[in-house]
Amino acid sequence: MKTTAHAKYLFQLSRLAFVNCYLVREDDGFTLVDTGLSGSARQILNAAQALGAPIVRIALTHAHVDHVGSLDALHQRLPEAEVLISPRDARFLTGDHNLDAGEPQVRLRGGYPICTTKPTRTFVPGDHVGSLEVIASPGHTPGHVAFLDVRDQTLIVGDAFQTRGGIAVSGVLQPLFPFPAMSTWHKGLALRSAEALRALEPARLAAGHGPVLDAPLAAMDLAIAVAKQRFQEPDAHAA
Ligand SMILES: [Zn+2]
Repeated sequence: MKTTAHAKYLFQLSRLAFVNCYLVREDDGFTLVDTGLSGSARQILNAAQALGAPIVRIALTHAHVDHVGSLDALHQRLPEAEVLISPRDARFLTGDHNLDAGEPQVRLRGGYPICTTKPTRTFVPGDHVGSLEVIASPGHTPGHVAFLDVRDQTLIVGDAFQTRGGIAVSGVLQPLFPFPAMSTWHKGLALRSAEALRALEPARLAAGHGPVLDAPLAAMDLAIAVAKQRFQEPDAHAA
């Protein structure tokens, strides 16, 4: 697992060069954003130890397998750490794959594994997890969220954008790395979320797949323009 530092507070942990999770430095230790694929726990713990602080909370952008894969193993090793996720995606962790009546009745995509770890707290948009503000960004999954570090405007977007294989909004297929698009639930919502995230004017963009981008606004604009063009099909407009 490769660790790279970005600005003052962010460390990207990258496994196999394409699945990321993030350590965010706080006064009381690290917030871990996402947990990677299964089998990543030891390397994540080693990375935090090498950086000299404990992981005190685990915050999840969404419940896909490459983001919650090491949750149970980490919870076992860090039983005191808080575990936080949106209430909507928390249901997937229990194996509940039902859509709500008010949601677009579009097939869920991607792997949603059952986890035995129970969240210690769920959050709603506007809540804070340490210095991270919770930002609603549904579309990739129904309860997907992003996290804005209010200290330096770093935006951790989960799979709302990808930067691997070129920047793209969730749902736009990048031939060099098609997996986030293939596991996107609702493209219309994903596009709306991408626009909302762009409107926050982040100083850097930290995605679940691909490198961290500094000064990402022009790249985000381009990705949104491409998504608007690609999502012309009627079902994307329906919502
Ligand atoms: Zn995903």
